[in-house]
Formats: sequence, C-alpha cells, structure tokens
Amino acid sequence: MQELTHWINGKHVKGTSGRFADVYNPATGEVQAKVPLATKAELDAAVADAAKAQVAWGATNPQKRGRVMMAMVGLINRDMDKLAEALSREHGKTIPDAKGDVQRGLEVIEFCINAAQMLKGEFTDSAGPGIDMYSMRQPLGVAAGITPFNFPAMIPLWKMGPALSCGNAFILKPSERDPSVPLMLAELFKEAGLPDGVLQVVNGDKESVDAILDNETVQAVGFVGSTPIAQYIYGRGCTNGKRVQCFGGAKNHMIIMPDADLDQAADALVGAGFGAAGERCMAISVAVPVGDKTADALIEKLVPRIEKLKVGPYTAGNDVDYGPVVTGAAKANILRLVESGVAQGAKLVVDGRGFKLQGYENGYFVGPHLFDNVTRDMDIYKTEIFGPVLSTVRAQSYEEALSYAMDHEYGNGTAIFTRDGDTARDFANRINIGMVGINVPIPVPLAYHTFGGWKKSGFGDLNQHGPDAFRFYTRTKTITTRWPSGIKEGGEFNFKAMD
Ligand code: NAD
Repeated sequence: MQELTHWINGKHVKGTSGRFADVYNPATGEVQAKVPLATKAELDAAVADAAKAQVAWGATNPQKRGRVMMAMVGLINRDMDKLAEALSREHGKTIPDAKGDVQRGLEVIEFCINAAQMLKGEFTDSAGPGIDMYSMRQPLGVAAGITPFNFPAMIPLWKMGPALSCGNAFILKPSERDPSVPLMLAELFKEAGLPDGVLQVVNGDKESVDAILDNETVQAVGFVGSTPIAQYIYGRGCTNGKRVQCFGGAKNHMIIMPDADLDQAADALVGAGFGAAGERCMAISVAVPVGDKTADALIEKLVPRIEKLKVGPYTAGNDVDYGPVVTGAAKANILRLVESGVAQGAKLVVDGRGFKLQGYENGYFVGPHLFDNVTRDMDIYKTEIFGPVLSTVRAQSYEEALSYAMDHEYGNGTAIFTRDGDTARDFANRINIGMVGINVPIPVPLAYHTFGGWKKSGFGDLNQHGPDAFRFYTRTKTITTRWPSGIKEGGEFNFKAMD
C-alpha cells in the first residue's frame, strides 16, 4: 500500500510519528494509501525551517513572486488531467467536477500574479510641511492553513497563492481524507521556482492542528471546514494572539417566487443540490417555494429530474452526475439524518435509501433524496447534511421565505429565483448572508472578489481570496517622513534646499 509523506524543505519526507490515517477510494471502499499524522515536534520543525526560508522570500520583489505564480498557472494547466484523476480517486467526485475544483483554485493563482499591484501601498505627498506619509504592506512571516476534504485542490490553492505571493512562508495542513493533490501542488510550486522551505505540507490531525495554533512563530491561521472546528480554531488561535479567519458549515436556502421560471429553477436546484453529492459548502440544501401552487409545481418538475440522476464512480465517464460521498461514516450520517426526517414527519418524495450500485457494493454511494413539508424544528432542517438530500420548506409569502434564510444559524450562500427586480433587490439588500445569487443557484464569487459567509459560516473579519486575502496575509505599516532641511522658517517648503 502506498505510504504518503509530508512535503518539507522541497522534498517528500516520511512521517516519524508511527501514526497514520487510512485514505480510501470512496467508490470501492478500499484503503488505497495511508497518510502520516505529524507530531507536534514534526510540525514545529517544519515551521522553524519555514521561518528561515521566509526571510529571503519576503525580501524577493513582489513581481518576481508573481512570476512564480505565473509559472504555476502553466504547470497546473499542464497537469490538469493528472490532478483531476488523483482528486477523484480520493474524493470520489466526477472528473468534470474535479477539474472544476482545480480550475477555481487556479483562478486565484492567476489573480496572485498581480501581487505587485496588490501590495503597492499608499502615498501622501506633503501631508505637512516637508512631511510625506506612506503605507506599505509587509508579509506576516509564517502563516498556516487547515483545509477540508471537499475541495482538496481549490481551497489549498486559495490559501497558498495569496499567502506566498504576499511574501510569507506557508504551512498547509490538508484534510487527511484526500491529501495527495495538495502534495502534488507543492511539487508543482517547486517546479515553478518557489524556494525550498517556503511551502511546507504537513499532514496530520488534531495534534498537528493544535501544534499550529500553539506555535508562536505562526502569525496567521486560515481554516475551512465544519463550524464546530472553525469555532474551536478561531477561539484558540485568537487567544494565542494570531490573526485567524475560519470558514464553517452551511445550510443554503433557495427561494422560488411564484413568478420564477420553474424549469430554470428546477434545473438549478438539481445541479446545486446534488452536484458533487451535495458535498459543497455552497450547495443548495433547502428549497423554499412561495405559495403551495409554486411548491406543487416545483416538486412535480423536480421529481423526474432527480430520478434521472446517474450516480456512479468517476471512472464511468462523463455520464455520471455525481459520485460517492467521502467515507463510510459520512454515508451513515446522511442516512441517519434521512431516517430522522421521516421519523419527524417530513414527506420523503424521492427515496434514495435503497440505492445500490452493482459492482460497487462497498462504495459510499448515496441515492438522491427529496423531502417536502420540512419544518424548522426538524433535524434535517437544522443540520448541515452534506449529502445528496434536498429539503423543501413551504412558505406562504416572500416575508416568510426570507425569514427562513434569515433565521438559520448558517449564512454562507443563498439564492432567489424571480423575474421581479424589486423583490430581487430587496432580497439582496436585506438578507444576512455573505454570498447571494439572483437566478444563480451557486453564487461563488470569482477570484478577484472575496469569498466568505456570515453568521456561523464565517469567523473573522476578512474573506478568502480577492483583495481581502492580500489584507489578511500582510501587515500594514505607515511611515511619516520629514526632512528638516527642506523646510524654511514659517513652514513653507524651500525648493532651493533641494539642489
Ligand atoms: P472538518 O471540520 O472535519 O475538517 C476540516 C479540517 O479540520 C481538516 O483538515 C481536519 O483534519 C481538521 N480537523 C478535524 N477535526 C479536528 C479537530 N477536532 N481539531 C482540530 N482540527 C480538526 O471538515 P470536513 O469534513 O473536512 O469538510 C466539510 C465541512 O467544511 C463542511 O461543514 C463544509 O460546509 C465546510 N466547508 C466550508 C467552506 C466555506 O468556505 N465556508 C468551504 C468548504 C467546506
């Protein structure tokens, strides 16, 4: 069986802890590799080496750092197929989805080519007599990122690109469930010209995460994952004086107004609810049709579309709509929640519980589920299921529909489908959620905007990628200069003194 490594000082390095996690092929249920789980000592040593390497990297001019990003773009494109295959093998998503995962990360690396532009600071000439003032953005030193299983290329790239192009060294602790792609990306960064030690990939679990949070050299921590862990990391990291941003779970609502194009809404719901087996933080997991007529018509359109979905392994080609979920535990949790929905009185309109795939009986495939008549008190409504389960909550008015999305503890993404501009505008203005789609089911901002949720979906002030990332990974210093020889008595500037 393949034994994966850490990536330290530009090389693959075997783990020394003797502790490993199994890495599964979710389509077959087979263990295909084991990944080492680092000790605190291994993590601390990686950070110490990174701090040494950061000194020269931080002093490298930002245009040159941008050129490493430019080379990286070429290399990721060159290896797109290889990366997507490795990603699908460990995560389970289809090849087109895996390519999308790599592509959305790549777009942030493209944005980071412009590091020099993003970091150029501000200048005020003659703020006072002979006084100029300027601000510059300096790297923090060593920053760290802790990332989830569901986007093993995109989210590491969202963190590595901005952190590195700002002149920091970066420690990545990827998900232990699909660690191969982050290691491949580290190899590509070396090939792109990144100096050894500036990017360290340390595989691990809670022990290495705690070591990151307690390491005094680590200045900033970016986390993406579930909300309980986000809250834990935010609390411990902030207590230890670090800059911390944590992005957590989601329960994204899509409101369907009576005037919406229902075919378009149904297509959008099927893609956004079941794509990637529902394992997206921007997946739509709650449909909120307004009025029973809209709800009945929507359900009628959804059922045949959902029943047509093809579930299968990524190796089956482009026909497959979605693959298995990531682990047996994830599958069991999804099915447990489906049972709770039935027990608590929701109507299971499409029942995927009996789903079996011939030849893949040990894989973690979950059939699609559609619930109707879901209410606020049900576990399937309150909990992030992170699987192919779409809940329908019936609202009798726009205000009631809005209240569902507003009152939910999560605030990552949301959407409204309507033809009415006033309603759309009101929704965009009033909703307390970070990313909003108007007739767009998965409103993921592009690389040059920022990505982040509100409420229990995001902790910290700055978002991921876009301009916020350059703020998060730098410290602003403001310098006030005065040259007394340039000043005449009375405070006027003496140009002659310049000769
Ligand atoms: P997770 O919280 O289980 O794991 C995320 C990371 O935290 C992993 O690297 C893991 O090793 C580490 N971790 C797990 N348990 C820990 C503990 N007790 N102490 C310290 N570290 C720990 O999340 P996941 O299952 O990998 O990912 C799915 C979750 O991520 C979902 O909730 C999803 O909504 C969320 N997510 C959010 C966003 C966003 O931008 N808001 C994006 C993608 C995924």
